[in-house]
Amino acid sequence: MTEPTLKDPRTLYRQDGFKKQDQDTPALEEDMMPKPDCGEESYQGNHKLENRRVLITGGDSGIGRAAAIAFAREGADIALHYLPGEDKDAKEVAAYIEKAGRKAVLLSYDLRDESAPQEIIDRTVKELGGIDTMVLNAAQQISHPDITELPMAQVKDTFMVNIISMFALVQAAEPHLPAGSSIITTTSVQAFNPSPHLLDYATTKSAIANFTIGLAKQFSEKGIRVNGVAPGPIWTALQLDQGQPKDALPEFGQDSLMQRAGQPAELAPVYVFLASNDASYVTAQIYGVTGGEAINL
Ligand code: NAD
Ligand code: MG
Repeated sequence: MTEPTLKDPRTLYRQDGFKKQDQDTPALEEDMMPKPDCGEESYQGNHKLENRRVLITGGDSGIGRAAAIAFAREGADIALHYLPGEDKDAKEVAAYIEKAGRKAVLLSYDLRDESAPQEIIDRTVKELGGIDTMVLNAAQQISHPDITELPMAQVKDTFMVNIISMFALVQAAEPHLPAGSSIITTTSVQAFNPSPHLLDYATTKSAIANFTIGLAKQFSEKGIRVNGVAPGPIWTALQLDQGQPKDALPEFGQDSLMQRAGQPAELAPVYVFLASNDASYVTAQIYGVTGGEAINL
């Protein structure tokens, strides 16, 4: 008899903690130890997103990179947005997209800049010939222990990058989005169970979850589906870019039910599903990929 191809989720990717490490902003995936698994060697496409025109924000590294690689292997062309300074990571992803036989457009913009969203959409539409799928995934996460010393400039930037840019990107894209389009936001377990040292970040993640459901209600009559993904602790550059107190890094993810951090590759299939026609009856939902932590609003 042929054996089933079962994988034990506990031992898959097992890391007995991570080494302490730190990077300047923006942190690069290239310099991480170990390098996250974004499905570079493993993701196999199955024609789920043929000829789709996709914008992914923060697509150079981590979860956005895993989505970009998977989407390209499913047949999509990708406008890959990233933060200036991340060209090395972004070019690697572009090479994977092109190796899959698809088009990669690199869009380097700081989302703290008010004019960025309109330019990102204009260039996506021009260079891909349209837009039907958006993965709104870019975010900044800067750990800070105490609200009394939390710089207001940081609070404003976090809101600008994580949530206000979503309003502007969707506003700019709306005239171009045909029926059947899909918008996917990246929220977080932090939306539902905030860590005290991530006050500004977690608040934006809660706003994103709410935005996702409200926007789905607005857009249902246009035939545009809107859903969110709520990751748990995932091994990405975000965590090294002041995302965690330095001493917390070795234990990162160990308190999940799986007793390990997740890898970006473990999220890609959920983004593919939500983007694809397979999810035709799925809108106004938040999907958790948390390693076990429950999510509810
Ligand atoms: P990541 O650092 O690899 O990706 C985040 C990206 O956001 C960066 O690569 C960068 O391109 C972009 N970005 C940051 N600041 C920006 C700015 N000022 N302007 C434009 N772009 C900017 O980390 P990731 O973990 O893959 O993050 C992707 C998403 O997943 C984020 O929304 C994050 O909040 C969410 N998330 C991550 C985790 C986790 O544990 N890693 C958990 C829950 C949610
Ligand atoms: Mg990055």
